[in-house]
Amino acid sequence: MKTRLLVKEGEYRLAKAFCMDAKIDAEELYCFLTGMDKVALFLRANEEVDPETEKKYFELIARRAERIPLQHITGTQEFMGHTFKVSPDVLIPRQDTETLVEEAARTIQNTPKEKLTFMEKLRGVKEWEVLDLCCGSGAIGISLAKICSNIKVTASDISSAAIKVATENADNLRAKIKFVEGDMFAPHAGKKFDMIVSNPPYIRTAMISILQEEVKTHEPLGALDGGRDGLEFYKIIVDQAADYLKPGGFLMLEIGHDQGEDLRKMLKDDGRYTPAEVIKDLPGKDRVVKCKLRSDR
Ligand code: GLN
Repeated sequence: MKTRLLVKEGEYRLAKAFCMDAKIDAEELYCFLTGMDKVALFLRANEEVDPETEKKYFELIARRAERIPLQHITGTQEFMGHTFKVSPDVLIPRQDTETLVEEAARTIQNTPKEKLTFMEKLRGVKEWEVLDLCCGSGAIGISLAKICSNIKVTASDISSAAIKVATENADNLRAKIKFVEGDMFAPHAGKKFDMIVSNPPYIRTAMISILQEEVKTHEPLGALDGGRDGLEFYKIIVDQAADYLKPGGFLMLEIGHDQGEDLRKMLKDDGRYTPAEVIKDLPGKDRVVKCKLRSDR
């Protein structure tokens, strides 16, 4: 069979199984199997595929047609221009989350000179201590460390399996991160950070059953379920982050597209933070909330 027809047949089988991006996934799986890139696939579309490759290709297609996420078959996901290893133990990094990383990086890079301490002025840069809470695959903390040279990242997660994946990602991408295992702020007793970033679980429990098959049966529930109102983890974070931030330190959280107002109110009612800024993602939906620990308390 010609490459073009093989991939077309793959697309057809995926579409029949209600896979969302059947064409993209059919191409990706062929590239994954053969090591070709998309350009080579296009240029060699009329070449014959040997029977062994054909057989292996349809085996991959069959797995994807069972609604196993593409990233669990290939074992990787691109995020902020880096290739992250993923497994069923971690949430697959989403493009939405790049909004959080970009905003955090901008915040770190744009610190006005007059805000530096005496020692920082001497050194010429501020050394930021950043905490990535509920780090999962490590995508946020590692990407930040790759962008900003003047930061020290600590990342933690309750799941030891996630910490294992994140450590491997940091090693592969040569990012120096301190990983600790533990529930929320428990492993950070007595520490103070310049910035806390987090993409905690935020899906309402009742919504889990209507998520895509790939997400609800193959991704870790513990990374998705935000409790009855989806806000359980934000309540813990807003309540405790103030004790782990230096005065004027930043709190930056990914949120669901309909949680901006809830977070704004939660932070306002708490009283220890500056008014929250809600930042939109590329498709224009509320995605990140950003505020500072007030330094005038
Ligand atoms: N954005 C993810 C999703 O829609 C959820 C991530 C989270 O709960 N932190 O599947």
